[in-house]
Amino acid sequence: MMPLLAGRLAALEPPATVGMSARARTLRAAGHRVISLAIGEPDFDTPPIAVAAAHRAALEGETKYPPTDGTMALKQAVREKFARENGLTFSDAEVMVANGGKQILFNALLATLDPEDEVVIPAPYWASTPLIAQMLGARTVHPQCPEALGFALTPEALAQAITPRTRWVILNFPNNPTGATCGGEALRGLADVLSHHPHVWVLSDEIYEHLVHDGPPHVSLAAVAPELRDRVLTLNGASKTYAMTGWRVGYAGGPARLIAAMTTVQSHSTSGASSIGQAAVVAALGGGLERIAVMRETYRRRRDRAVAALRAMPGVTCAMPHGAFYAYPGIAGCIGRTSAGGALIDSDAAFARALLDEQHVAVVHGAAFGMSPYLRLSVASDDDSLSEACIRMARFCKRLR
Ligand code: PLP
Repeated sequence: MMPLLAGRLAALEPPATVGMSARARTLRAAGHRVISLAIGEPDFDTPPIAVAAAHRAALEGETKYPPTDGTMALKQAVREKFARENGLTFSDAEVMVANGGKQILFNALLATLDPEDEVVIPAPYWASTPLIAQMLGARTVHPQCPEALGFALTPEALAQAITPRTRWVILNFPNNPTGATCGGEALRGLADVLSHHPHVWVLSDEIYEHLVHDGPPHVSLAAVAPELRDRVLTLNGASKTYAMTGWRVGYAGGPARLIAAMTTVQSHSTSGASSIGQAAVVAALGGGLERIAVMRETYRRRRDRAVAALRAMPGVTCAMPHGAFYAYPGIAGCIGRTSAGGALIDSDAAFARALLDEQHVAVVHGAAFGMSPYLRLSVASDDDSLSEACIRMARFCKRLR
């Protein structure tokens, strides 16, 4: 008999993005020019001041175990950032640093969830969110954010999803994968629902906050609804704003009781985030927002081109993503048809697979984000690749029979 894997892994699949990347690598190795719009990662470089700060920290001996919840310098920089950019005042005991925003989410859920607890995660969602909750034995509940409403979450849909067993509501604006944003007024409507459920923690994932292209500007849930302050955790990180995905630094602000529990969880798993990475993020946070303005403008321009191209493809619809760097086109009009290569397109997964095999364009199927039939395309890819990918996808759609 073979040694077993944990039962809790039964429900877990490898992330869809990883599967597509592996397939793309195989095609590349066979000599094909594969274009990947599958990964949600800025195609910009980390700010040089952050790199220089990391270099300096390493040379100056900042190479010992850092405090689990973050270096003094980074916690201060994070507190200043929350105050300056979000109007949120936190004490040192109310902020922590982790190995990426993903670990913040993981810490928060591990610190609070018991088996059979419910976690409300509006769909479409970032794929990792429900998988972490499910790994911990929780049930996930998914109010729908339909394309017809621009993928917005309505207060009614949120209210219906909350039960006495709900432990968390997890919100993410601007949203991965849809690009939906939520201005102050709409957020206030959601906060009114949340204020009726004092047993519920609320995680506001604001990692794309600086990528709002049009419509109302980003506001933090905790700023719009100060009455929720003792149960809102605001998640953020350096990955998207500063093009620092590989440095693995995320952070959060929230009630001291929750932050202390999350720090305990982290102290028994990874300990503190890399001291060098933390030094780099201190410099990045202090370096102003000029670079993100350039990135935002670039993503907006690419979004406009990609959405126009998508809307011109037969069988494809596309709501305008007002934020982040994704488009989430609907492909209901392509389902049931057959590709030029003979693949039956009976799902968004089948579409994505055939598109990769026949036109060498990698995207992620919507089922991975909890709403089908859709695709997620990242526009954080260079202009030439994006244009060529759109040409190939249009060709694929036109040839569907
Ligand atoms: N939240 C959302 C919505 C994301 O899309 C991501 C990354 O893709 C993260 C959080 C976490 O990013 P990181 O762990 O790199 O900070």
